[in-house]
Amino acid sequence: MSSTSAPRAEIRVDLAAIRHNVRRLRDLVSASDAPAVMTVVKADAYGHGMVEVARAARAAGTDWLGVATLDEAVALRASGDVGPLFAWLAVPGEDYVPALAAAVEVAGYTVAQLDEIVTAGAAAGVTPQVHLKIDTGLSRGGSPLRDWAALCAHAAGLERAGSLAITGVWSHFAASDEPEHPANDAQLGVFKEALEIADQAGLRPRWRHIANSAGALLRPDARFDLVRFGLASYGIDPAPGHCADLGLIPAMTVRARLAMVKQIDAGDGVSYGHTWIAPTATRVGLVPAGYGEGIPRAAGNRAEVWAAGGRRPIRGVVCMDQFVIELGDGEAAAGDEVELFGTGAGGHPTAQEWADACGTISYEIVTRIGGRFARVHV
Ligand code: PLP
Repeated sequence: MSSTSAPRAEIRVDLAAIRHNVRRLRDLVSASDAPAVMTVVKADAYGHGMVEVARAARAAGTDWLGVATLDEAVALRASGDVGPLFAWLAVPGEDYVPALAAAVEVAGYTVAQLDEIVTAGAAAGVTPQVHLKIDTGLSRGGSPLRDWAALCAHAAGLERAGSLAITGVWSHFAASDEPEHPANDAQLGVFKEALEIADQAGLRPRWRHIANSAGALLRPDARFDLVRFGLASYGIDPAPGHCADLGLIPAMTVRARLAMVKQIDAGDGVSYGHTWIAPTATRVGLVPAGYGEGIPRAAGNRAEVWAAGGRRPIRGVVCMDQFVIELGDGEAAAGDEVELFGTGAGGHPTAQEWADACGTISYEIVTRIGGRFARVHV
């Protein structure tokens, strides 16, 4: 490969892995009462590319796509997506019309929001399809249980008037990656109570859903009609230490080419602030990626990459555009490839290991990667 055509750094997203994961997840949750599967593609598909991932997930048979914002949903429709699509986050005064006109199903948290959605539905000339959200204990969006009966009664009135259709009742777990956490049982209890109250109000939602990846995999009793798979769709274990081998394939591999290789002396300080001082003479390589690409600054002196046939530690702090790795006696030259993280095959580092090293979660590692990196879908 000539130096003019070789990329400085790239994010490779393996769409075959996405398709595999979507199919595999469906198999993992399928039983006599198999729930429908939603693939969550918000935040640019956790950094993997929303439109490309959405197409791969649809091709692999996902029933639903899920995003946070109305803008994301409208962008998906503009890309040609036509299947069931749910968007769950909007602020008062936000324009629902483009999303409703494009048959996006939306979330309802409050009476005022339902009224806003009805007005937008009339303007769009459609009957809005709404999933009412009950806050079962995350204390994020959704109606508190104390307001739920009134919300359901209001929704039922609007439904009878033909102003909207309540197609779902849903919620979200606080600690599904910790199966022993008492919040899981407590939230399921509140969810069932909320479903009964909705039923008493005359609502018959087709889609009852609460489970994200970890919830769907670890709590069969939380699957209801639909499960929302985000992280697991990208091949990352959503509850490390709690799931048996899931047979998922990480879809994202981040690579760069060494900008420079050189010798430093014992006592030389590396990167800003000299947070690492070479104890002996050693060889270092310069990786042309930094926090401008979403590489956490916390990875300095903590995370490892794969270079020169082995794991190599990051030395010193991560800068905006670059960081330094210690090659030691590993044979490497400027232009050689470095893998930051990927599938983990052959002992290469994974996004989960980077998360552990940086004191964060794998979601944040993959979602933030971007900036000046080229993203390539294969
Ligand atoms: N559902 C909602 C409402 C979410 O906010 C998310 C992601 O945070 C998901 C589902 C997917 O969660 P996970 O990536 O853990 O599967």
